[in-house]
Amino acid sequence: MRDRACVESREPLLEEAQMAKRRMVYLVGAGPGDPELLTVKAARVLADADVVFYDALVCAELLELAPPHAELCYVGKEAGKPCPSQDDINARILAAALRQNAVVRLKGGDPFVFGRGGEEALFLKKHSIPFEIVPGVSSSIAAAAYAGIPVTHRNVACSFAVVTGHEASGKLATQVDWASLRGVGTVVVLMGVQRRAEIAAELIAGGRRADEPVAFVENGTTAAQRTVRSTLQQVAEAPPDIASPAVMVVGDVVALADQLAWFTPEAVPDRAADRPSPMPRPARATPAPPGGERPGAPPHRPPSGTRAPAEPPRRAPLAASAATRL
Ligand code: SAH
Repeated sequence: MRDRACVESREPLLEEAQMAKRRMVYLVGAGPGDPELLTVKAARVLADADVVFYDALVCAELLELAPPHAELCYVGKEAGKPCPSQDDINARILAAALRQNAVVRLKGGDPFVFGRGGEEALFLKKHSIPFEIVPGVSSSIAAAAYAGIPVTHRNVACSFAVVTGHEASGKLATQVDWASLRGVGTVVVLMGVQRRAEIAAELIAGGRRADEPVAFVENGTTAAQRTVRSTLQQVAEAPPDIASPAVMVVGDVVALADQLAWFTPEAVPDRAADRPSPMPRPARATPAPPGGERPGAPPHRPPSGTRAPAEPPRRAPLAASAATRL
C-alpha cells in the first residue's frame, strides 16, 4: 500500500518539477541591430521561450526565432509616446514567470549597458524568480566598429568610457562628471543626440581638446547606418543633424575610420534571396496579417524615432541563418 501511494503521488510531483523547471527569466542582449550579431546562447533561449518581452531597439527579425506558441509582448519606451512604466514591465514579467513560463526579456545591445537589466534582475531576485543574464553585443562598441573606429588603439587610446548623454531631470551635470573624462582615451556617449551640443561644450570645458575628432554613428550595424564626422568645437557651436539612435564617439581613434571604414550599408545583402533554402521557416500558430507581419511583433518598418531605414533591409529569418551557421 505504501509503495503504491508513493507511485501514485510521483506523477504529479514529476509534472510539478518539470513545470517549475520552466520558471526562468532570461535577460537577453539582442545586439545592436544586425541580426547576425545575436549570440548563440541568445538564439537558444529565444527558441525555447514561452513569452518574449522586447524593446524598441530590438531587430524585428529576431522575434522569428521564438517558437510559434510564444507570446510576443512589445514593451518599448519611445520618446514622446505613451509607454509602459518600468513597474508595469516588471509586473508583467513577474506574472509571466509565475505562470511557469520560460520568459525572455529581450533588450537592444547588452542588457547591463544602459538597459535597466540590473534593475529588472534585482526585482526578480526580490521575488525569488530565477534568472540568467545573456550578455549582448553593445552598440557602444559595435556601432563604432562598423564605422571603422576601434574604441582602443595602441598609442592612440588605451581606455574608453561609455557614458549616458540623457539627463532625466534636465540638468546634464548631475549625472556624468564630464571633467573626469579628460584622461579617458575614447568617450562613447549613448542617448546623447538631443544634448550633443551641451555634451561637446562640457567635454571641452572639462579639458578635452576643442579640435578633437567626433563621429556620430546613426543606426549602427544596419542598412541605414550613417556616419557623420565633426570636432568637439563644431558640435558645440553648430551641431550637425543627427537622428536617433546614434552613438557619439569622441577621440583621436575616430581618424582611423579614414583607413578602416569597411561597412557599406547599401551592400547589406538580401540574405533571403542569397540562400537557396537552408531550412524551412517554422509554421506560425498565428498567421501573419497582410504585409507579412505577425500580431504582437513590431512593424517591419520600425517605430519612428528608432531605427527607421528608408528601405528596410530584407534579410532571411535568423532562424534559418542560425540553423545553418551556428
Ligand atoms: N543596451 C544598449 C544601449 C541602450 S541605451 C546597448 O548596449 O547598446 C539606447 C542608446 O543606445 C541609443 O540612444 C543610442 O545611443 C544607442 N544605440 C542603440 N542601438 C544603436 C545603433 N544601432 N546605432 C547607434 N546607436 C545605438
